[in-house]
Amino acid sequence: MKKEVNHNHSLPQNNFNQIIINLGQALGATEIGFSDLSVLPAQKRMDFTRGITVIIKLSDGILNQIGTAPTQTYFSHYRSVNRLIDDICLRILLALEAQGYPSVAIPASQSVVDPEDQFTGAFQHKTGAILSGLGWIGRSALFIHQRYGPRVRIGTILTNAPIIVGEPTTESACGSCLTCVSACPAMAIEGHLWKPGMPRNELYDAYACSQHMKEAYHHIGRGVVCGLCIVACPIGK
Ligand code: SF4
Ligand code: SF4
Repeated sequence: MKKEVNHNHSLPQNNFNQIIINLGQALGATEIGFSDLSVLPAQKRMDFTRGITVIIKLSDGILNQIGTAPTQTYFSHYRSVNRLIDDICLRILLALEAQGYPSVAIPASQSVVDPEDQFTGAFQHKTGAILSGLGWIGRSALFIHQRYGPRVRIGTILTNAPIIVGEPTTESACGSCLTCVSACPAMAIEGHLWKPGMPRNELYDAYACSQHMKEAYHHIGRGVVCGLCIVACPIGK
């Protein structure tokens, strides 16, 4: 764990971590991570230097219903968890701002207009989660939590509050596993092991994934969820 000096503000930095953890967990977060974002280009982190990652574990009961296609229940659950993450992130943001730190909460599920990647969001939640040391990126390009595997959803708050940050993950722990590669009905997962800084399109074809979901699962949440690479992964099963 890195340490840094707390300038000007009355709360010691470890109190910030504990206040945020207590608040997040009281509201339903499974785990909270803290990251140093200053290693990223400034425009990719909206000039903020710290990230707070909110993890919510998805329901095993609901995921276990998924066989060869997503279910309506999974789609509803996915949306409910996203709403809960957004609520938790908002409450943490308000607590940080009450301490004098303007912050930004990135919605759990949000796409922005990016001519280079129409499937990306305003800030990549996975980036904050990896820099927090909570897990790695799987061959599936999903964030793989060290305990819950891909069975999580993630939210992020960008801030300059003086929090203690975790040690970034530097390597994949997928090993020789290729389960998600063969489970993907769109053949969208290339099968490469993730390394830090690797572009997402070297891991999987986001367009092929999106097209498959739209065509095959349009009747379930208008084709925005699949979940087959999540339920196939042995981590967190
Ligand atoms: S969500 Fe479905 S289509 Fe997309 S990569 Fe995973 S298994 Fe393949
Ligand atoms: S299924 Fe195997 S290869 Fe794919 S993300 Fe999970 S551990 Fe990694």
